[in-house]
Amino acid sequence: MLVFKFGGTSVGKIENIHRIVKLINDDQPKIVVLSAMSGITDILYDISNLHKSKQNNNASEVIDIVKTRFLSTAEALLFNNDSLKKFYSILDDKISHINTLINQDYTDIIKNEIIVQGEIITTELIQVYLEELTIKSVLISAVNFMSINADREPNYMNIESRLKDELKNHKGTNIFITQGFICLNHKGEIDNLNRGGSDFTATIIGSVINASEIQIWSDIDGMHNNDPRFVENTKCIKNMSYQEAEELAYFGAKVLHPTCIYPAKVKGIPVLLKNTLKPNNAGTYISTITEKVGIKAIAAKDKITAIKIQSGRMLLAYGFLSKIFEIFNNYKTPVDMITTSEVSISVTIDNTSNLDNIVKELKKVGDVEVLHNQTLICLVGNLGAETKGELSRILIALKEIPIRMVSYGSNSNNVTLLINSEHKIKALQDLHSHLFSIN
Ligand code: ASP
Ligand code: MG
Repeated sequence: MLVFKFGGTSVGKIENIHRIVKLINDDQPKIVVLSAMSGITDILYDISNLHKSKQNNNASEVIDIVKTRFLSTAEALLFNNDSLKKFYSILDDKISHINTLINQDYTDIIKNEIIVQGEIITTELIQVYLEELTIKSVLISAVNFMSINADREPNYMNIESRLKDELKNHKGTNIFITQGFICLNHKGEIDNLNRGGSDFTATIIGSVINASEIQIWSDIDGMHNNDPRFVENTKCIKNMSYQEAEELAYFGAKVLHPTCIYPAKVKGIPVLLKNTLKPNNAGTYISTITEKVGIKAIAAKDKITAIKIQSGRMLLAYGFLSKIFEIFNNYKTPVDMITTSEVSISVTIDNTSNLDNIVKELKKVGDVEVLHNQTLICLVGNLGAETKGELSRILIALKEIPIRMVSYGSNSNNVTLLINSEHKIKALQDLHSHLFSIN
C-alpha cells in the first residue's frame, strides 16, 4: 500500500486538484492524506484568536471568508448540481459548527476544534469531487484512528489497530482519503500534530501499515541544497539518508515537518518528496541510500536564543552538566545545540516560553548570558573524519562572518554553527558559492 500526502497548495487550486486526481486514480491501493487548502489554517487560528479576545463580530466576518473560499473552490470544481448541493450542505454544517463554537466561552478545547476544520472541509470537498467523477474512494476520519499520548507522541499500537479496522471495513476500496494534522489526545479531545503536521500524519500512517512508499507532494521539487528564498541556483537533492533529511527538516528546510522522518526511518520506508506542479521532476528520495559527496545541503533556523553559563566555582566538577540539563528538563525545553569548555557551556533553544524561569534557576549555578536573534546554520552530508577538509572549507567560506558556536563530530553527517541572524543571508550565500559552485 502507498501513502500520498498533498499539502495546502495542492488542494488549494482547481488545476492542482485535477492533478491530484490524475496521480491517485489507478489500481494501486493507497491512503491519501490531505492538508487544509492553503491559508485556511492560518485564518482559522485568526478566528480562534478573535474568539479568545471576545471579538465575536469580527470572528464571524472571518468565518464568512472561510465559507466563501470553500464555496468558490467548490463552484469551480464540481460540475454537477447534486454534488454541489451535497457539498453546500456539508459546508453549512461545518460553518455553523464553528459559529456555535465561538458562541461558547473560549477554551483550548474549542480552539483545537476550530483550527482543524480546514482539513475536515477540504477532505469532504475532495471526496464529493471523487464521487462525482465516479472514482471509488472512502473518506475515513482521522479522529477514528489517529491519537497521541500524554507526552504528545503518536500511540502507534493503537493507531495501527484502529486504522486496520477502518481499512477492513471497506474491502475492495483502493483509495482512502483522510485528514492530516488532526488527532485525538490522551483525554479523547480533538487535538493536532502541530503546524505542518500533515506530513507527520502521512509517515505515521505509512509506518503502521508498512507502506511500500510514502509520497509527500507539495509545491516545490523536494529538498534543495540551500534556501531558494535567499540563494540563487539552488538544486534539488536526489537522494538523502533519513538522518540527513531529519537534520535538514529540523534546521529550517521548510519542505518537511521536523519530526516526520522518524516513523519512516524506524520501519525503513522510503519517503519521496514530489512537486504536484511538476510531477515529472524526480524530487527527493529519502531512504537508507546516500551518496558520499561531502557537503550536500545547507539550511538555517531563525529565532534561536543562545544561553551561556559560566562557572569558575564548578571548574572540573562533575554534576555541572547534569544540573544544567535538569533545569531545561524541568521546564520541558529542548536544547538544540551544545558547546562546552572546561568552565562554561553554551546551549541554544528555540522555545523561549520558560526562558525567565530557566535563567533564574541557571543563575544559581553560574553566570548567565542570554543572546537573542540568533540563527543556526546546519550543513549536512558526508562530513565524517574520512572526508578531509570539509570543515575547513566551511570555515573559509564563512571567513567574513562572526561565528558564535560550532558543533561538529557528534555524528558524521552534520555541522551546526550559530551566528547572529543579521548575517544569515550572507552566510548562506557565501557557503553556497564556496561549497557548491563547482558542482
Ligand atoms: N493545515 C495545517 C497547517 O497549516 C497542517 C498542515 O498543513 O500540514 O499547519
Ligand atoms: Mg507542510
